[in-house]
Amino acid sequence: MVNQTEFNKIKDKCIKNEAKLIAVTKTRTIDELKELHQLGHLIFGENRVQELLGKKDELPQDIEWHLIGHLQTNKVKQIASFISMIHSVDSFKILKEINKQANKENRTIKCLLQFHVAQEESKYGLSPNKINEFMEKVIAANFENIEICGIMGMASFVEDEKQISKEFKELKSIFNKLKATYFIDNDNFKQISMGMSGDYEIALQEGSTMLRVGSLLFE
Ligand SMILES: *Cc1c(COP(=O)(O)O)cnc(C)c1O
Repeated sequence: MVNQTEFNKIKDKCIKNEAKLIAVTKTRTIDELKELHQLGHLIFGENRVQELLGKKDELPQDIEWHLIGHLQTNKVKQIASFISMIHSVDSFKILKEINKQANKENRTIKCLLQFHVAQEESKYGLSPNKINEFMEKVIAANFENIEICGIMGMASFVEDEKQISKEFKELKSIFNKLKATYFIDNDNFKQISMGMSGDYEIALQEGSTMLRVGSLLFE
């Protein structure tokens, strides 16, 4: 069931901070998601392509779908015709494939660059010290069917709020650096996707424009 108290609280905070709420659908049932849709929520995020396709089929078609988890190149074509935003771009190779499939669909796909700033080891996410190297390649490629709209990241799964806040600050600073260096004249580059159930309030304080919240929305 949807936890309406939490849902309303998070929505209020989003409005105050001019941030968007992406409702994360991972592990939730179709009935739970229908309930959320009936409460008027239209932006959903899923981390796996197969799960996303299954849920999309069974839910109303006015939902805007975001992919938030790691994407494999061979899966891009399955979502290219409809996906609203891909938050998890973490390699040049995946960006190239997204561009190719978007081109076939005659559309532009909004993407966020995922950066790894957490303490935990992770295979996913670009390394902050490789920004320039990565961006030089992207600029040279001049992808016509991709719109890079900002960045995404996750903080460490720790209790220490100072640590979490430090990592969100790092993401914000990566965003600022990219904006100043490569996107100064590009108004589409404006999103910082950070903050989940456990740390969304800190994320909003540190400048998040998109929360990805799952478990807290349900009971
Ligand atoms: C699961 C997940 C979330 C949401 O996590 P909750 O703690 O349930 O809010 C956000 N982002 C990503 C990438 C996820 O995989």
